[in-house]
Amino acid sequence: MQHRSETINPGLTRRQLLDRGCLSLFAASFASISPLAMQHVCDAKVNAASPSDEEPSADEQTPSPTVSLIKFRDEAGQETSVEGRVLVRASDGVLLEDSARRLWTIPSTRLEAETKTEQPFEFFDPAQLGSRLIEECRSAGIDSDFHVHTTENYVMAASTPEACSEWTGQLLERMQIAFQSYWKNRRFELTPLAAPLPVLILSNQTQFAKMAEFDRTPASATGQGYYLVTANRIVLFDLTASEADSPATTIAEVQRRAQRIPASVATVVHEATHQIAFNRGMHQRYADNPVWLTEGMAMYFEAPDLKSRRGWSGIGKVNTARLFRFREFLRTRRQPDSIETLIRDNSRFGDADLAIDAYSEAWALTYFLIRTRIREYSQYLTAISQKLPLRWDDPEDRLAAFESAFGADRTQLNRDFLNFTARLK
Ligand SMILES: [Zn+2]
Repeated sequence: MQHRSETINPGLTRRQLLDRGCLSLFAASFASISPLAMQHVCDAKVNAASPSDEEPSADEQTPSPTVSLIKFRDEAGQETSVEGRVLVRASDGVLLEDSARRLWTIPSTRLEAETKTEQPFEFFDPAQLGSRLIEECRSAGIDSDFHVHTTENYVMAASTPEACSEWTGQLLERMQIAFQSYWKNRRFELTPLAAPLPVLILSNQTQFAKMAEFDRTPASATGQGYYLVTANRIVLFDLTASEADSPATTIAEVQRRAQRIPASVATVVHEATHQIAFNRGMHQRYADNPVWLTEGMAMYFEAPDLKSRRGWSGIGKVNTARLFRFREFLRTRRQPDSIETLIRDNSRFGDADLAIDAYSEAWALTYFLIRTRIREYSQYLTAISQKLPLRWDDPEDRLAAFESAFGADRTQLNRDFLNFTARLK
């Protein structure tokens, strides 16, 4: 179990957490060769280069309908430029979204010139997005042949055989439908997608590690997948291609192998959950999303159902790996104010010694709230979904938002929570 914190560049601390907590359990439970997905925490706050101290007014939070061209100096001092729509104009800089949905934070101190055009802003179409994805892989130093596989809601660039991207595309599309209907039945209406979602599927860990370096999330390099908030894309690699085997060339063969490797499905579902939630109105990129909520949601959905022929079915199964860890935490280290420390800020997720326990508790708390207080949980989700970018809550705001949904009596809530989790199997 390892978690790392690191500084990517001066003034910007990115916490990249790798969760290796499930290796031993999965080895025991499934005799599998792989641990459960090692997850990249998408903590939008720490991805933001320059969150403003001064809160922008509501007017400055309305996305511009037209394209702006911004010239600025990058962190190395090089002149560069970017085109897109301005999402937020803060006193200390600009948050801009380009046509691939990548977010750019440009501090005033490095902004050279801004040209506002009359040109309406549009997202890339699937062909343009596919080309952009391949360009990024080339920039990362990945020379393989790529193909672009497009489905209703996704554009995938893959260096794998087509069978792998087709299998992944089918799983992702099933996820879209399942996620939408799950929340619709629980009074949270997802918004339609504004643009197709980008996905990279690399053929092996080496390419994946190169991409993680390029994305400046080196701690993800030894994981199995990540969702990058900035670029809005998922990056995966073919977990079904082991060194002993050549890559699977039919969808049926990918599926057969995936059934033997639970992480292959869990990773896709976990990262896809993040991406859907950030793109369909559940969370807002670069807003103050509590990590216990975003990760709890992804872990709630990731639990693989190995009896299913498709490897994933039935939402909300008990995540046995997380439950096992939570119980161990509960027996040995958990403090009476653990709910409070989990929700008031993200610090437990950023601490190498505490993060795996925090993950397990985030799963358990999410499971408990969805199963016993769905109306309150949906209200809380709605409140969080309305948060504006670049505004960061302090612990009191976090606690107040939680209390307004779930009540102020956390002692009773904790009692109910522990009684509930004690009965889980
Ligand atoms: Zn995650």
